[in-house]
Amino acid sequence: MIKKAMKFILVFVVSFAFTCNVFAVSNNTSLKDLKDKLAKDEATLNSVVRKQNQVKNTIKKIENELGDIAKEIDRYEREIKESKDKVEELETEIKGKKTEIDNLLNFLEVAQGDNVYLEYIFKAKSFTDFIYRTAVVEQLTKYNDETIDEMYTLIDENKKEQARLDKKIDDSEESITKLNKTISKYNLTMDDLVEDHKDAKADYEASKKEVQAYEKIYKENKCSETTPIIDCVDIPYADGLIRPTKTGVITSEYGMRLHPTLGYYRMHNGVDIGVPMNTPVYASAAGIVSKIVRVKNPNKRNSSCGGNMVYVKHRIKGKEYTTVYMHLHSINVKLQDFVTTGSIIGKSGGGESYDYCTTGPHLHFGVMKGSNYVNPRNYVNFPKKGVRWSSRM
Ligand SMILES: [Zn+2]
Repeated sequence: MIKKAMKFILVFVVSFAFTCNVFAVSNNTSLKDLKDKLAKDEATLNSVVRKQNQVKNTIKKIENELGDIAKEIDRYEREIKESKDKVEELETEIKGKKTEIDNLLNFLEVAQGDNVYLEYIFKAKSFTDFIYRTAVVEQLTKYNDETIDEMYTLIDENKKEQARLDKKIDDSEESITKLNKTISKYNLTMDDLVEDHKDAKADYEASKKEVQAYEKIYKENKCSETTPIIDCVDIPYADGLIRPTKTGVITSEYGMRLHPTLGYYRMHNGVDIGVPMNTPVYASAAGIVSKIVRVKNPNKRNSSCGGNMVYVKHRIKGKEYTTVYMHLHSINVKLQDFVTTGSIIGKSGGGESYDYCTTGPHLHFGVMKGSNYVNPRNYVNFPKKGVRWSSRM
């Protein structure tokens, strides 16, 4: 019994120690972590580009199909036109034949003057000849009747063919409508991918610059790649984080939420601070500017999600923290700049015409502990949602 209990405790202790070990690993990021992140960003970018190419090819294929169908419709229309001409021709012929028959019948019933048939019959030399000639005229009438019947059959066939071609045109037009719908769907996907591409590209480029900057410092300071940044880089010591703006109001909390512009639930990894456009944004603590995402044209709605962003790395009680400032209208700092709580890192943006992830002027403020986003409220003294503040602390 004791043995069994000991075994249980041992298993418990070992597994506890193992679990602790996992979580005891420092959250602080190293150059190697940044390089891994860069590799991920590159893979994401490549996968978006691949998807874009796939969708582009699909759209092109459908467009070719549409071109072929349009050509087919042209052909059907030409065939219908030819068939209609043929019917018209037959109808004219029938009219002629009918007149001819009428003339013959008129002769047979009431003999009239200046008629070729009449003349023909009256030129009979004998009664037998007269009978013979009458029979010839009757046969002519019969022949004409048969020809007319044949022509009516031809007209029928032509009309049937026209109906068949009309049906084909209808079917083709239906296919065109369907294909156009598919194309618009793919175009929407393409729009999303274009945005994804901008995001992925901005992320990748910022990560690349970040890695390059740290690579240089790591080399200068002769650090191993796996050494945490705060142990290799001279990041100023800070006591804690304070509000990044002099006045403001929390308009959206950290956590899962229905995204205001994307329309689906996703993690909101910071708080939104309602401030007018161009409000000075300060570093939340002393630190070093570790990453800058700069979009080419922040005044266009098509810039990447988050727009201009600044990341500042801090050393707080031996732990690495990063504060993140998004939707900036302008950026005042450079990569690896040292900042204090008095440094303006940029001016706020986020207005209507800003990046596609915002609906109104605000600052998105995020806090990362190591490489994980955490709730900024646990580190910064923000008043309740909707309550305005008028000092940094
Ligand atoms: Zn936000």
